[in-house]
Amino acid sequence: MSVVTVAASADEWFGEESPDFGKITEQLLAVENSIESAFETWAFGSHSVGPDGTYCAINNLELSWLGCSREELIGKRTPREFLTPESQAKFDHFMENHGRHGFTDAELTLLGKDGGKRPISLSFSGFFLEDGSPRKNRSVSLDLSPIHLRRDRQRVAALTFESLLGICITDAAGDALRVNAAFTAITGYSSEELIGKNMRMLKSGIHPRSFYVAMWDAILAFGHWQGEIRNRRKDGQIITEWLSISAVTGADGVVTNYVGTFYDISQAKASQEEITRLAFHDALTQLPNRRLVHQHIEHALAISGRNGQHSALLFIDLDHFKSLNDSRGHDAGDCLLIEAGRRMQSTLREGDTVARVGGDEFVVLLESLGLAVLEATTLARQIGEKLLATLATPYRIKDFDFRCTASVGISVFCSEESAAQLLMHADLAMYQAKKLGRNTLQFFDPVMQLAATARAEMEQDLQRAIANAEFELHFQPQVDTQAAVVGVEALLRWRHPRRGLVFPGEIIPLAEETGMIIPIGQWVLESACAQLKQWEACEATNTLSIAVNVSARQFASPDFVKNVLKALNDHGTNPRLLDLEVTESMMLDIDNAIEKMQVLQRIGVRFSMDDFGTGFSSLANLTRLPISTLKIDQSFVRKMAASSGDQVIVKTIIGMAHSLGMDVIAEGVETQSQRDMLASFDCNLYQGFLFGRAQPVSVLEKALHPVCEQRG
Ligand code: C2E
Ligand code: MG
Ligand code: MG
Repeated sequence: MSVVTVAASADEWFGEESPDFGKITEQLLAVENSIESAFETWAFGSHSVGPDGTYCAINNLELSWLGCSREELIGKRTPREFLTPESQAKFDHFMENHGRHGFTDAELTLLGKDGGKRPISLSFSGFFLEDGSPRKNRSVSLDLSPIHLRRDRQRVAALTFESLLGICITDAAGDALRVNAAFTAITGYSSEELIGKNMRMLKSGIHPRSFYVAMWDAILAFGHWQGEIRNRRKDGQIITEWLSISAVTGADGVVTNYVGTFYDISQAKASQEEITRLAFHDALTQLPNRRLVHQHIEHALAISGRNGQHSALLFIDLDHFKSLNDSRGHDAGDCLLIEAGRRMQSTLREGDTVARVGGDEFVVLLESLGLAVLEATTLARQIGEKLLATLATPYRIKDFDFRCTASVGISVFCSEESAAQLLMHADLAMYQAKKLGRNTLQFFDPVMQLAATARAEMEQDLQRAIANAEFELHFQPQVDTQAAVVGVEALLRWRHPRRGLVFPGEIIPLAEETGMIIPIGQWVLESACAQLKQWEACEATNTLSIAVNVSARQFASPDFVKNVLKALNDHGTNPRLLDLEVTESMMLDIDNAIEKMQVLQRIGVRFSMDDFGTGFSSLANLTRLPISTLKIDQSFVRKMAASSGDQVIVKTIIGMAHSLGMDVIAEGVETQSQRDMLASFDCNLYQGFLFGRAQPVSVLEKALHPVCEQRG
């Protein structure tokens, strides 16, 4: 900024020769006017004041700052009046110390007419008369508001970057460019270890891939994502963060950077979890309390309502617990409760709930026990018995042993009740168990109780059946088109000491469930092989084959092949006469099934596909399996006469079997018309009441040949 000083002494400037001051003044005024108009176009505020200190010119910009009209100011007001009191003091000080010598700069605050403040940088220059008094002076001001604003923003940005919020700026590939101190403090990595690295290095491995896919989908779609995430610190510790990621795009819309900011909410999460845990858990045993188990029951009810699965609620009360508390004190009682809870937990599956709902009262919730109520009842009883057994084992408490049993009440449910009702039912059943002498379990529903008792008895009886030689094989003939018996199917019968003859429908599912099917199945195989060996001696029977039903669990056993070979070897039986009946559902692990079947097929054993048409076997699989006979399920044969659809199915199965080079046998043939229709479809083998029921070997032999009968 230049200083314009009008001569303090004319002689100094012009010497002896006196110039034409009038002309000079005129020229000066002209220059001044042109300056004045130049100021109008500047982005500066500008004014000049006369010797009395009032405005004599002001440009439009400065007028707008003051909120006044020119008329209000010129010759009337002084610039000093438009300063804040602090700036007035500053202004006076400058004028005092510097102003008189010509030029100065000051940062002042303007006070507009409307009270609005504006920071300015004021440059001031004076024109002085010969006596040194100011004639006129000019000020040029720069509005500092935008600069201040920018400076404030920078300050905020700097403060923010060093805040408690972890901040990371990455490039478009997710590699860190800059991290703040909070980021390094929270993650435990130094900025040197982070810069240039991809931020996936913080992954905890806890979230599934789908979590990150959804996160990046949101960032790509909306430019932003925020949520809870679990990352891993350098020391391996997992931290929970509330993370927000924003994409930064350039003018062309292409992402240039990502900014990630997060809070470490691990502490808050932990406190929240602790509060929840305290509210929903028993302080002594750490097990869920009544409130939580209530919620679990409500949830189980909702799930059961959707999928039809039965669940069970077990109410467990420790017998004579009070006597321990009274005789050995509460500490001993507490130890027993903790141990009882622990034992129950270790007896149950992961998804089951054990809760402590009162002094010595526990509740166990067993979910998804099966679609059939009987199945669920059986399972609930089995688990209840396991709990009784584990709770009855002596407890070592401090320095003494204590024996304690429990009483269990069970309520099996699907979806029809409420949590409160269920708890009440199980509780009532538990009292019933107490009345019956403790260390026992009772079902709330008397019908269920009966069924459960009967089933439990059956189970025990089944265990003894083999040893007591209560099983028998009955044989049902299989005939060819000429009605000649070519083989038999061996069907299991149980001659129960009290109930009489029990059929496979009752035996097989229970045996499957308890694992008893393995020894029973082996017994059937051994008996069939022994029978084949016996028949070898008689001409009327030495070509008969025996079809043996194989159960799913038996077939799945790794010892299956070995067991079949053992039965054949032990009796010296011709493998070609043994026909094993498998079902479509056993072929799920097709490669494994084929492998097993091929080993046996190689030595001559044949396989039939039982109940064909009721499963979902694929044709492709069927061609891979070493099957020699398809057995058309009896349901198709039964419905065939009345339903053209079933006729088509039967015809198709027969045609398909033949084209695959297999035999086909129709099951459940009861009438001549069924037989004739099947014959017209080219069926070549038949089995059913029309040709004979399953019968004891003696009856069968009698019918086959009188010679056999004499021998037998
Ligand atoms: P499956 O293998 O389909 O056996 C045929 C069933 O149909 C037999 O019932 C038989 O008595 C019955 N049946 C035969 N002809 C007719 C008929 O003309 N009309 C009617 N209504 N029924 C007929 P059973 O003996 O009660 O056996 C039922 C199922 O139990 C068998 O079905 C088989 O899957 C299974 N099973 C039988 N014995 C054994 C065995 O030793 N081991 C295994 N794992 N399962 C067996
Ligand atoms: Mg069968
Ligand atoms: Mg069948």
